[in-house]
Amino acid sequence: MHRDALIEDLKGALEFFQALGFETLPAQMAVRKKMKGPSVRRRPAKLSIHEKEKALETLKEEIGDCRRCKLSKERTNIVFGEGNPDTRIMFIGEAPGREEDLQARPFVGEAGILLTRLIEKMGFEREDVYIANIVKCRPPMNRDPEKDEIQTCRFFVERQIEIINPEVIISLGRISAQALIGVTGVKMTAIRGNFFDYKGIPLMPTFHPAYLLRNPRDKWLTWKDAQKVLEKLKG
Ligand code: URA
Repeated sequence: MHRDALIEDLKGALEFFQALGFETLPAQMAVRKKMKGPSVRRRPAKLSIHEKEKALETLKEEIGDCRRCKLSKERTNIVFGEGNPDTRIMFIGEAPGREEDLQARPFVGEAGILLTRLIEKMGFEREDVYIANIVKCRPPMNRDPEKDEIQTCRFFVERQIEIINPEVIISLGRISAQALIGVTGVKMTAIRGNFFDYKGIPLMPTFHPAYLLRNPRDKWLTWKDAQKVLEKLKG
């Protein structure tokens, strides 16, 4: 590789690690390959972007002022999800937190800042991808969503996935992985980094950004998972 290109690659990798909050580097550091996001092969879309927008709008109307479960009692806003309906990647978290509940937008708090950095370092803008949650209302005190709440709400995220039909799903954290893969009692450490099948769409479970804020050393593993997703997109 040309020396200047190598220096550029190293600079990019270091900026990424710095953005994710690392102060030291691991002994073996793989230089991140430049990823060509949008130019690579796409699966044929089931719906046009316009049809997807309309279908998502209809779904939002169907949710309405939802009172289907007890989470509705304490929420401020329903957090439907946002982003490019024609995206190649969908990120699916667990449930809105305080900031998300106030702003009616997914991942806009501290964990959201970290997620946005990851998306950008993968070579996308936040607006290029679609971000949603398993449940659309904030659980009180940010507790885990309960089984009945997930059961009641899961139709909506499943329908979002069906409409958007992304090439890859990245599930964030245990709750999201369990809900989408359909398993219970699994540890993130056992499943992350491996592709699962979600109705024909490859799904990569990785750590939740809020977990990464508490366990910054595991950011390396999340980056590895993201690289596997980028490889998959290259086809
Ligand atoms: N955590 C989540 O799982 N989702 C959000 O939208 C915010 C924080």
